[in-house]
Amino acid sequence: MTAAPQDSDCLFCRIIAGELPADVVAETDRTFAFRDINPQAPTHVLVVPRAHHADVAALFAADPTLVSDTIRAGVEIAERAGLAETGYRLLMNTGAHAGQTVFHAHLHVLGGEPLGALVGGGLRMPG
Ligand code: AMP
Ligand code: ZN
Repeated sequence: MTAAPQDSDCLFCRIIAGELPADVVAETDRTFAFRDINPQAPTHVLVVPRAHHADVAALFAADPTLVSDTIRAGVEIAERAGLAETGYRLLMNTGAHAGQTVFHAHLHVLGGEPLGALVGGGLRMPG
């Protein structure tokens, strides 16, 4: 049994609730992790807090320990994927200039090959 989504308009709430499919990688009582549908690296996993918060600022304001739970899950996933030696990137896009597209806070776990520059390779926003 899964609970109804917290926010029925939110893609990630619906994935957490089992209403939409996902390639699930890990779960805890407070976080949920699944493979990005459009991977940007050999390992590209999204870790989402089960609770709906629009971005990391709202998440941190509401529940700072949930930020650390999310990062801990990301570190464990990276280590389990064998990335501890070669390295990996954890990132949380926040708002328009960062290119955030899903407004349910999430941590990207990226690795498995050299990841290139942190900024500059992505889309340019007008203005
Ligand atoms: P961001 O641009 O930081 O908001 O990241 C949103 C991420 O969600 C993107 O990397 C998308 O590829 C990913 N995404 C969108 N829809 C899905 C989905 N149904 N399942 C898995 N990942 C998704
Ligand atoms: Zn949500």
